[in-house]
Amino acid sequence: MHELSMVESLIEELLKLQKEHGWERICAIRLRIGAMRQVIPEIMHFAFDITVQGTLLEGAKLVLETVPLKKKCRTCKNMWTDGDEAVFLCGKCGSSDVELVEGMELEIESLEVE
Ligand SMILES: [Zn+2]
Repeated sequence: MHELSMVESLIEELLKLQKEHGWERICAIRLRIGAMRQVIPEIMHFAFDITVQGTLLEGAKLVLETVPLKKKCRTCKNMWTDGDEAVFLCGKCGSSDVELVEGMELEIESLEVE
């Protein structure tokens, strides 16, 4: 359950931000998570709800936005989006020299604060 460690570092970061900015309350957190992170949203929500209990973030709403995988062929510059985490092969020229352009994100997109 790697979601739990993600949630723990997220909460740590949020509490730090809250302190720095003097926010009374963080109501909602919108997260961008790349598909490569293989996060299961239900587990993420579950881990979040448990971990925030008793902290200043208790009751905050977590919104997850998944970023699909975007791959780019270094040989022919072909770029495409697909959902397969395991296949790194260019459908155009057959090269396996493929890089991941998007899909590794784990970032806070926006916060709703009071
Ligand atoms: Zn190619």
